[in-house]
Amino acid sequence: MITSAVVEGVKGRRDGLLVAEVFGPTLQGEGPSMGAPAVFVRLSRCNLACLWCDTPYTWDWSRFDPRAQSRTWTVPDLAGWVLDHPIELVVVTGGEPLLQQGPLTVLVEQLAAAGRRVEVETNGTRAPGRRLVESGSWFNVSPKLANSGMPEHRRIVPDALAVLVGSGRARFKFVLRDPSDLEEVADLAGRFGLAPVWVMPEGTAAEAVLGGARRVAEEVIARGWGLSLRLHVLLWGDARGR
Ligand code: SF4
Repeated sequence: MITSAVVEGVKGRRDGLLVAEVFGPTLQGEGPSMGAPAVFVRLSRCNLACLWCDTPYTWDWSRFDPRAQSRTWTVPDLAGWVLDHPIELVVVTGGEPLLQQGPLTVLVEQLAAAGRRVEVETNGTRAPGRRLVESGSWFNVSPKLANSGMPEHRRIVPDALAVLVGSGRARFKFVLRDPSDLEEVADLAGRFGLAPVWVMPEGTAAEAVLGGARRVAEEVIARGWGLSLRLHVLLWGDARGR
């Protein structure tokens, strides 16, 4: 049974990060850096609960035991693991990494100081603080659409999006389940000044990803957006840690 004390415990310590998994070297599977060699740090916890989430083990404590799925790493230990790999790109993903922004900022600063390029993947509902923006991190922002099943007031936070846009270091990537989702993307991009826009089909099987991409490719080109596949799914299906 997952008690409230356990859930409180998995929020992580102030000086550490609650981590679901670290893996790599592998390839960045999504977004503007798709195909680049990368190492990954996947943080636990999320403030949303998307219907199609492919990493529920990072946050859904009704289905997964947080003691089995997560452990706290100190920032020096985590930085040490990353720096043991001679790979320039470091992807910090989740879950929602900005829920652990204090120690995350220290980690990013250390990695940037060592010459690494860091991409923090976020759902765009939490604003990065000035220190994290100035760390040199890039933000792969994935605001969720209605297809996530989340109400708009939870998945779209205008103040947070404004900070991310103003950082000049954000790219916006939307998960599509149907070509009709493109209109919702255009509406959000227009309302909040989100650019550059990338879209990506949802799916944990190669056929679903490729089929979804083929259905929207012409319209995406016409709109001047980017189209991301899910390279890790094409290569390895829904295998964890790739
Ligand atoms: S924001 Fe991301 S990690 Fe959180 S529930 Fe949605 S898809 Fe999963």
